[in-house]
Amino acid sequence: MAIAGTHKSNFLKVKCLDCGNQQTVFDHAASNVQCIICGKTLVKPKGGKSEIVAQIIEVLD
Ligand SMILES: [Zn+2]
Repeated sequence: MAIAGTHKSNFLKVKCLDCGNQQTVFDHAASNVQCIICGKTLVKPKGGKSEIVAQIIEVLD
């Protein structure tokens, strides 16, 4: 499973580090994505690919 080095956009299943909620996020988000349960920031925009501030459970195509 190659995550680094790909220019492809993906949806990721991530787990919130604070509350354990799992949700699906886009890895090229243009704005912050927050946990729907506790409001913690899960994804930060960073030029192209986003910075994921959560545990990545699965990469979805
Ligand atoms: Zn949370």
